[in-house]
Amino acid sequence: MAARIGLTGGIGSGKSTVLEMLRALGAAAIDADAISRATTAFGGAAIPAIAAKFGPEYIGPDGALDRNRMRERAYAHPESRKDLEAIIHPLVGREIERQVQAALAAGARCIVFDIPLLVESGRWRAQLDRVLVVDCEPETQVARVTARSALAPDQVRAIIAAQAPRALRLAAADVVICNEGITLEALRSEVEQAARTFGL
Ligand code: ADP
Repeated sequence: MAARIGLTGGIGSGKSTVLEMLRALGAAAIDADAISRATTAFGGAAIPAIAAKFGPEYIGPDGALDRNRMRERAYAHPESRKDLEAIIHPLVGREIERQVQAALAAGARCIVFDIPLLVESGRWRAQLDRVLVVDCEPETQVARVTARSALAPDQVRAIIAAQAPRALRLAAADVVICNEGITLEALRSEVEQAARTFGL
């Protein structure tokens, strides 16, 4: 049985870097966000059900979910969010399972689920053998993100504040990679060590 690992971490923690390292070691990666976005994009599996449930006006001229309109609706009718999730989540679950089966058929020994909101949404845990959290100090997150993007430090702090608190994320972890005060090479050896325990 291939190990199913959930990978998460705050913005700028280094989780994309860790994911690439795990892939290089032979892990199959599943991008939960991309799968979720695809369901509401042009031609996405959720589009017909969204039009049926909320009305065709919630589908934009580009054939994708009109996110602004849906956000306004969810603001006025909070239950709409649940209705939308009830459409999207099963489709995401099915697509993930399809990708898992494809990875297993291709001989994957470890499948890493890249789930930015793993801790926030709580619905993933049951599908995972272990939760891997990449952790660092908040100011290191700020420094990394401002170095790679046009965001100002306070904007990054606001994003961090909107994400799961660090303590909660660490409490949900089975394995923590501490990506603080270490070089990328040292990070790689941390990842290799964790990867061995994942059967890689
Ligand atoms: P996340 O996916 O968690 O937002 P990334 O993996 O994209 O974070 O890392 C953010 C930035 O910090 C990237 O430019 C990455 O190369 C850099 N970085 C991550 N870890 C280290 C490290 N230990 N040393 C130096 N740079 C790092």
